[in-house]
Amino acid sequence: MTLIIHSVTIITLEQRDDIFQGYVVIEDHKFTKVAKGSPTEEEQQTASRILDGKGKWLMPGLVNTHGHLGSALLRGAGDDMPLMTWLKQVMWPNEAQFDHETVLTAVKVAMMEMIKSGTTTFLDMYHLHMSDIAEIVIEKNLRAVLCRGMIGQCSQAEQEKKLAESTTFFKNYHGEGEGRVSIALSPHAPYTCPPAFLKRVAETAGKHHMMIHTHVSETRNEVDKHVSEYGIRPILHLKELGIFEHPVLLAHAVHVDETELTIIKEAEAAISHNPISNLKLGSGIAPLKQFHALGITVSLGTDSTASNNNLDLFEEMRMAALLHKGVNEDPTVTNAFDILKMATSQGATSLQIENTGVIAPGYQADFILINPATPHLTPNNEGTIMSHLVYSCKGSDVTDVFINGSPVYENEELQLFDEEKLLFNANLLAKKFI
Ligand SMILES: [Zn+2]
Repeated sequence: MTLIIHSVTIITLEQRDDIFQGYVVIEDHKFTKVAKGSPTEEEQQTASRILDGKGKWLMPGLVNTHGHLGSALLRGAGDDMPLMTWLKQVMWPNEAQFDHETVLTAVKVAMMEMIKSGTTTFLDMYHLHMSDIAEIVIEKNLRAVLCRGMIGQCSQAEQEKKLAESTTFFKNYHGEGEGRVSIALSPHAPYTCPPAFLKRVAETAGKHHMMIHTHVSETRNEVDKHVSEYGIRPILHLKELGIFEHPVLLAHAVHVDETELTIIKEAEAAISHNPISNLKLGSGIAPLKQFHALGITVSLGTDSTASNNNLDLFEEMRMAALLHKGVNEDPTVTNAFDILKMATSQGATSLQIENTGVIAPGYQADFILINPATPHLTPNNEGTIMSHLVYSCKGSDVTDVFINGSPVYENEELQLFDEEKLLFNANLLAKKFI
């Protein structure tokens, strides 16, 4: 199957100014040609499908590197609380009541929201019904890293059970769906996982060659508590316990010192920066300027709908750009191109996904189309597009989403679920929680 999309403005994100009018050819889930101008007669004759892009913008799909899809129906519950109070009073008691239908409905609502706002890859850390979530990802042609989140405040037997569940999940699903599904090992956080358990996590990651994803140093209080309990800062502790001997993606890393940043850099670990969640929970502001100065791989995550409260990565990009300019009192601290890379190719790198996040031959055909015929994206010319994508675009401007070369959202029509039925059911189910 060969697909051609022509008459589009292509933002390749390979180089800063690589924006041009042209077309793309897709075969076997990958771009085989990305070119200026129009497709040749011969190319048109051999294509099985030709789409007129109608002046739209074509760019890589967005990559959300931290979230918890299963709690999507707690959107709007428990605003204005600090992290620990929010977790203990709102999240954990409500989640304890979740049944199978609630979790899967929440997951589908979150998937729908992400797709409709241009996200083509997401990470989900959750602890319930992960195999069913993997099946949905496979069936609906999505791309995801799935982690069975593990809280280690339980007996050793229960800890081992959670590890066994995670490794079975890995064996059953890693690489499935033509490689669209990856499975990572996910201790929830150093404050919920005792050192002996984290050591077992590191051993297990080594044995099965798994990536590790964990929350870390999200709040100052969490770091202070860790130091008073163990006499060492969390990231130094994770190093001692062997976590950084494996591929690692850290969520948050808001309160990190220079020694810890050096550890992250030397381990080639990545950071999922979640600026809106960190602001909403009053956790603080991660040192993005230092992350970039050290050359650490940084990507963007929304965290859950309960602490954001949406999954629109365009909002996350804009917030990331503005926030760090403001706190550093320096508008040159970041720029639209760097922010877009964080939301695309750096996201894929953070998730250990290769050849994704750039529009170029050989790359995965994960991309989105945006309709610029709207007041807030005017003037529409090649010199302003990069700026518009970060400072003015909204998730609702996305009209088409392709994953692995296939449409999941086309001409603003969702191919995945019966939207009306799903939202009706979600509202019914959410009544008992909010
Ligand atoms: Zn989180």
